[in-house]
Amino acid sequence: MPKVVAGNWKMHYGPAETANYFARFRPDANPESVSLIFFVAGLSLHAAKTSARVPVELGVQSIHWEPSGALTGETSAEMAAEAGASFALVGHSERRHVFGETDAEVGRKVAAAVRAGLVPVVCVGELLEERRAGRLAEVLRRQVSAFLPSLQGGGRFMVAYEPVWAIGTGETATPQDASDAHGIVREALGELGRAPILYGGSVKSGNATALMSAPDVDGVLVGGASLDPEVFTKIAMAGDSAGGSTGGGSAG
Ligand code: PEP
Repeated sequence: MPKVVAGNWKMHYGPAETANYFARFRPDANPESVSLIFFVAGLSLHAAKTSARVPVELGVQSIHWEPSGALTGETSAEMAAEAGASFALVGHSERRHVFGETDAEVGRKVAAAVRAGLVPVVCVGELLEERRAGRLAEVLRRQVSAFLPSLQGGGRFMVAYEPVWAIGTGETATPQDASDAHGIVREALGELGRAPILYGGSVKSGNATALMSAPDVDGVLVGGASLDPEVFTKIAMAGDSAGGSTGGGSAG
């Protein structure tokens, strides 16, 4: 299966900057080896769709669980799908820790994504103090069990393991840390444990190959380093090599 290389642009790049970006993003990658996903601002979906020069899939960074309503400023899963998204990030650590999103809300958002035909990419990950206290497995199991019931009716999904201490900090989990955490997530997913699990947290062009070649790592979710089209091209090509090789985990 192809490795997944996903970029989370966060609150960057409106339509014009999106078009400029894709004029410079031209990896010579084999879609059978690497699958490229961009989580862009909802307002830039159309620009991304019309300006990408290589096959990419698009997603939004957050959705509300209601299909419509008096919820000023929110975007429903149905609206995102209609505007060109195929994927939705759910439970990103900035949503959990800056905007106070709860495990229960993450579960409702996963259900909404499935209802609208979007593929949820559900983020899980521990705080530094939780890791230091030896609570990694407990935290990951709790986060997974909160959204698992939303997937029982079927539907494609992915999980992104993103240790909070590694997001935007320059600190990266080692490939072994990532493999270990992915093993815990896979076990917690039970019969759905063959879903792709991505690693996220300060992925750069220099560490992407090692991370994507680690057992049980099916791809990467990249924040800061996805904002530079030349750097992200290198990460896409690292996915292309890792996906084409026989050494890494499989995105089953
Ligand atoms: C992210 O935003 O999901 C992320 C992993 O960010 P960064 O790569 O900048 O750590």
